[in-house]
Amino acid sequence: MNKIDHYAVFGSPINHSKSPRIHRLFAEQTQQNLDYVAQEVNAENFVAAVTEFFAQGGKGVNCTVPLKELAYQFADIKTERAKSAKAVNTLALQIDGSILGDNTDGVGLVTDLTVNHGIELENQRVLILGAGGATRGIILPLLDQQPDCLVVANRTIEKALTLAIEFNHSLEGCGFHTLENRQFDVILNATSASLSDELPTLPENLLAENGVCYDLAYSNTPTTFVRWGKLQNASKNLDGLGMLVEQAAEAFFLWRGVRPDTKTVIDLLNAERSV
Ligand code: NDP
Repeated sequence: MNKIDHYAVFGSPINHSKSPRIHRLFAEQTQQNLDYVAQEVNAENFVAAVTEFFAQGGKGVNCTVPLKELAYQFADIKTERAKSAKAVNTLALQIDGSILGDNTDGVGLVTDLTVNHGIELENQRVLILGAGGATRGIILPLLDQQPDCLVVANRTIEKALTLAIEFNHSLEGCGFHTLENRQFDVILNATSASLSDELPTLPENLLAENGVCYDLAYSNTPTTFVRWGKLQNASKNLDGLGMLVEQAAEAFFLWRGVRPDTKTVIDLLNAERSV
């Protein structure tokens, strides 16, 4: 029997994370000999915890709130998508002992939208609500899809404007009030407002006819933004469970070189939350 390889997700709070379940399902499906645990790690003890984990022979770590920027600083080398996000959600031990930092959030979102749900992004008017860490991670993969325009609207306008400058004005940054009289084909909620059952005030008719709404947050019951999408008659009205599984699959591929089947895992998790 081969030696078991150790992986973990670090974050705080972490006890409700679905990542251990997802990675264990992937491992079972692809017959990889690994374990994957959730570990409560806050910003103060991150460096000590991650150093210890790799010193003990760990092969890879996922990082979630509030650790993605710290993980970016910790990584010895970074992928292009991690550099553009300035945030890392996946650390992988390399053969030479160095630690690679990647960001799989954006590709996870785009795969869920385009492959799982058949949502075309090319030539579409795309709006992101929020300008935090998740938004940073999804901008480059979204721009790669060549939307007609990409607008980032945020409560703290300066953060949206800074993103526009950082990305060489390939996107527009603004506040929510500037959205008046504009329409979008795809609206992505990347604020954390859903987590506290809130929603930024959005103008009427923001969503174009047949438009799509997608909340990066996910929950066992419809999020505030998913409920808003329903009121706007969104043609597709989704939450971020599929993105969660797809970003995990990309991390799994980076670590193991094997691509798991995500559909069976998404179907299973969806079935579990509908009971
Ligand atoms: P951050 O804390 O980095 O950013 C939070 C953002 O939400 C900021 O833009 C903030 O605005 C805005 N915000 C918070 N509360 C409100 C409010 N009441 N009204 C308006 N805006 C608000 O969080 P992340 O970017 O890391 O995460 C954002 C969301 O994406 C979370 O719900 C997270 O769970 C989800 N996510 C899902 C993933 C998945 O795989 N499905 C992966 C990663 C993230 P301001 O700048 O003004 O404070």
